[in-house]
Amino acid sequence: MQISMRYFLGLGSNLGNKKKNLKRALYLLKKRGVKILRASSLYRTQPVHFFDQPWFFNQAVAIETSCTPYALLNLIKQIEREMKRECLIQNGPRTIDIDILLAEQTVIQTKKLTVPHPRMEKRNFVLVPLKEIAADAVHPLLKKKIKELWKNSQDCSIVKKLRKEGRKEKK
Ligand code: ADP
Ligand code: MG
Repeated sequence: MQISMRYFLGLGSNLGNKKKNLKRALYLLKKRGVKILRASSLYRTQPVHFFDQPWFFNQAVAIETSCTPYALLNLIKQIEREMKRECLIQNGPRTIDIDILLAEQTVIQTKKLTVPHPRMEKRNFVLVPLKEIAADAVHPLLKKKIKELWKNSQDCSIVKKLRKEGRKEKK
């Protein structure tokens, strides 16, 4: 019997066609057998580290897979490579960035992988999309729900929900 595990992933893109990049990343995850359980809206987010770079599009997804956390990290790296991620500056512009945010209540602290993702509680661009799909999920180290982490966030950077395609804005 194959045991599957649930994860929350954070995706971000600020180069090229950002919406298309996020869509393609989800497609590539599915193609590799990852089940997408829920996907948040897309959010336009202000860069946190280097201000002189385009705004990001960010999204959070809930997934189910038989991958262990390390296998999932390798799969994510393959996808990032496949999407020709340009990894020139840390925290700089990128076609796609996929992070493992939570792996149920699992805690991993190694050089290669840290779960829950370090600093996730300090980043609005992670907390806002994640809250949309997992407000009551509990951070296993901080013992707080995502909605509580968001309420306590000290991050001032702007996060705006992207208007759904086809829906007209109210005047
Ligand atoms: P960042 O996402 O912080 O901008 P990178 O995407 O360049 O930085 O990630 C650098 C490294 O972080 C990856 O090569 C990976 O091995 C490591 N890493 C550690 N924990 C995680 C995690 N939870 N999710 C994704 N990558 C992680
Ligand atoms: Mg990353």
